[in-house]
Amino acid sequence: MIEVVDSGLAFRTMGSVDSTSRPPSVDALARSLSHIDLPHPLLVDVARQAIASGDHHRAESMALDLRAAMLQPVINATGVIAHTNLGRSPVAVHVESRAQNLEFDLRTGRRGSRQSGIGRLLARAVGAEAAMVVNNNAAAVLLVLAALAHDRDVAVSRGESVEIGGGFRVPEVMEQSGARLVDVGTTNRTRLDDYRKAIHRKGTDVALVLKVHPSNYRVEGFVEETPVSQLSTLGVDVVADIGSGLLDEACPWLPSGPPDWLRGEPAARQSLEAGASLVTFSGDKLLGGPQSGVIAGRADLVARCAAHPLARALRPGGLVLSALHDVTIRYLDRTACEHVPFWKMATASADSIRHRCDQVVDGARIGKVIACDSLPGAGSTPGAHIPSFGIELDGDVTATFRDRELPIVARVRDDRTVLDLRTVAPDDDQHVVTALRDLFVS
Ligand SMILES: *Cc1c(COP(=O)(O)O)cnc(C)c1O
Repeated sequence: MIEVVDSGLAFRTMGSVDSTSRPPSVDALARSLSHIDLPHPLLVDVARQAIASGDHHRAESMALDLRAAMLQPVINATGVIAHTNLGRSPVAVHVESRAQNLEFDLRTGRRGSRQSGIGRLLARAVGAEAAMVVNNNAAAVLLVLAALAHDRDVAVSRGESVEIGGGFRVPEVMEQSGARLVDVGTTNRTRLDDYRKAIHRKGTDVALVLKVHPSNYRVEGFVEETPVSQLSTLGVDVVADIGSGLLDEACPWLPSGPPDWLRGEPAARQSLEAGASLVTFSGDKLLGGPQSGVIAGRADLVARCAAHPLARALRPGGLVLSALHDVTIRYLDRTACEHVPFWKMATASADSIRHRCDQVVDGARIGKVIACDSLPGAGSTPGAHIPSFGIELDGDVTATFRDRELPIVARVRDDRTVLDLRTVAPDDDQHVVTALRDLFVS
């Protein structure tokens, strides 16, 4: 029979036995891992795998690997504000464990639409007739094309037939929507006349002109693109996929107006004013909300999107809608600067961040305060930097920081670890102090 070991302590003692000894039982091994915060059935699976692998001593590290794969809060000290791998924009979610009038009209007592309240808020925020929300911007583009251009042609500049972030490729989204892509112009230059020719070419049936903002890179030199204001003279509806979710170039929610690093970023309000029939954008990039996608513009077109069968498959849940609702209200109240974490972090003065770094270093008695650059992130505003301050440590200690109960994600530069405090909420500074102090202990 296999030896049964009762307590984790007993097992740890056993761990020093050479690995040719008889393995413990699955049950005993699983129980010896109970200090790792995973449901018991997963600990049992790990124990079984470790024993089957012939080295039961691996069980603890296997369980810790699995634990690390579980979704959990982290402290983002990378300096990338909307970090794609860290859930993009940090966002607060306040929801009570109560029912919600998600699709219920409180005035009539009848069925309502989950889009009506949030649609009103977003439409007002960008100066559109109407707006609706789906799961992300890729879904927004897909739905617009499927609802408005199925079996028809959509003109896209060759310079904008791009791949953006995790596999959003314009030609593929187009294909999935059932619309046909008509390439216009060349990779570096596309003029209004190129669009005109494509639209009037015999045999084409252009339903839309799609303008895609190449959010995550910049082409410089001999380049020319056609702005929305010119495209809107073609007599075909223009859809502008602006990507980032900047609501208004003038940033009326920022007391000091638009920051330098935002220059050139297309905004929803101005794209509509320039004549776009619809704009689409992400909710979790510069908008600073939860993962979602917004379609805003002419009411008849938004209504056709909402009525398409795909809208049902792409609809967001109540959690997302409540978070987006709260964020949008902050814009309408012009308090996004204080209350939307993205903007709070993006606009914190470099001086205030340096002061926090000094305090952390004083408290921890380790590290050096250095100037560094933060990035807006989420594949938006390519090349934009926000001057910031961070704490630099010798060597790469990022794995130690990631290993903490509340993991801290930092970056490495020239074999030094840098913690940029711009992306750390000030309330978390004390966690950083403790983590730095713990470096001595470990
Ligand atoms: C980010 C981006 C997308 C994809 O948006 P998701 O919300 O990640 O689906 C599409 N188009 C543009 C221009 C983007 O910047």
